[in-house]
Amino acid sequence: MWAVPESTGMRKEIFLKIQSVNGFKDILPDSTARWRRVEEAARRVFARFGMREIRTPVLEKTELFVRSIGEATDVVEKEMYTFADKGISMRPEATASILRAFIEHGLHVRQPVHRLYTIGPMFRHERPQKGRLRQFHQLDAEIIGANEPYVDAELIAMGRMFLDELGLAASLEINSLGCHSCRPPYKAALVRFLEERADGLCGDCRRRLHANPLRALDCKNPGCRALVLEAPSLLDNLCPECGRHFQEVGEALDAMGIAFCVNRFMVRGLDYYTRTTFEFLTGDLGAQAAVGAGGRYDGLIEELGGPPLAGIGFAMGLERVLLLLEQKEKETGSPEEGMDLFLAAPGQEALVSCLTLAHFLRAKGMRVAMDYSGRGLKGQLKQAARSGARYTLIAGEEEWARGEAVLRDMSGGGQRPFSLAGGLEERYRRLAGLLQGAEDGPDENCTAPPCQG
Ligand code: ATP
Ligand code: MG
Repeated sequence: MWAVPESTGMRKEIFLKIQSVNGFKDILPDSTARWRRVEEAARRVFARFGMREIRTPVLEKTELFVRSIGEATDVVEKEMYTFADKGISMRPEATASILRAFIEHGLHVRQPVHRLYTIGPMFRHERPQKGRLRQFHQLDAEIIGANEPYVDAELIAMGRMFLDELGLAASLEINSLGCHSCRPPYKAALVRFLEERADGLCGDCRRRLHANPLRALDCKNPGCRALVLEAPSLLDNLCPECGRHFQEVGEALDAMGIAFCVNRFMVRGLDYYTRTTFEFLTGDLGAQAAVGAGGRYDGLIEELGGPPLAGIGFAMGLERVLLLLEQKEKETGSPEEGMDLFLAAPGQEALVSCLTLAHFLRAKGMRVAMDYSGRGLKGQLKQAARSGARYTLIAGEEEWARGEAVLRDMSGGGQRPFSLAGGLEERYRRLAGLLQGAEDGPDENCTAPPCQG
């Protein structure tokens, strides 16, 4: 805010526009319907798998993320919004919070296996770009208390079914990160390999060489990429149990007809993963290729002070799902989102009769729009088109006096007379019938005068 100097004789304060914080986006009415459709698709599909919703706070003790995600990860090192003096952070992901709540409330005491999901905002201080925000939303699903490979396959299948439900294509890549017995010797071999070639690594990978050598495998730096092609593969060094687990996940996916490919360089950005990891990828979002990702985290619940239970989960990035859906609907059109009926009452006289009818129809569940300005027919029809209504019922003073309105099909299907005789219930019944069987086209015997506008 700044002020005109007082010497000018007039004191006028001019308020500068306050804008949203960079990377924090409003979701405007034009897109909320699409968001709802995505969330509803998730709830519908997840219910088929017995998932139950959990909601946790957006703030947690920083220690929770440091202990679960890991200190030497991008998320904890660079991306967290932390209130240092209070020791708390905005959640950068949901798994840690869900596990914290699971342990805190002793959910495992009631039943051995829990299937939980949540939908909500996450926060990471990253450079905002297409499909990458600082406040973004995740759809997060977790199966806790089961370690069978078929559970991995089932959870991956659920992610696939969610994307299918929205008609979105994405490829599936899987890998195994081994366990606490086969990963350490592999890590040591990888460190040796990287140390010998440290000059070719980017600064980040060199720095993390000892704390988190696996990250070099999925580093985006072209030099690192070329270098790790020759690196030893964890898949060749899995212990027999992890090898069997990985094989059975693949067989189960095959049995369900779910296509996938194995990507031995996929390590994921969070430290807690063990065994199966997976990503749903798309070529349609530029650099932000991962629509969703997840993996198994056996041992993590215990590390967070809980019982020794296994777990697996994934998170879909909803902004990326929305971008894909938007792209698809540009080609296929989006499902109807407008109003069922626009009630046009040219002039002031018929306003109350129309409002009464509109209120009755809305109470019956119809989506009805109206304009109360009393403007003429031409203006009313413009408003009707803007509302996206399928039909417009033109019922001005004259029509009410005559007992017959005009019903116009807004998709260019002509118009027909509509009797205003009978009570509200009778009018509703006939309008609902019309909307249901909307495909019967213009009435050939229409005798109503043509509308202007
Ligand atoms: P990326 O490699 O794109 O940074 P990530 O490995 O950090 O992804 P995860 O922690 O696995 O992502 O989170 C799961 C999903 O959440 C991602 O696949 C992505 O769709 C979404 N996601 C992660 N970070 C962001 C962000 N900053 N903005 C929007 N979506 C995000
Ligand atoms: Mg990231």
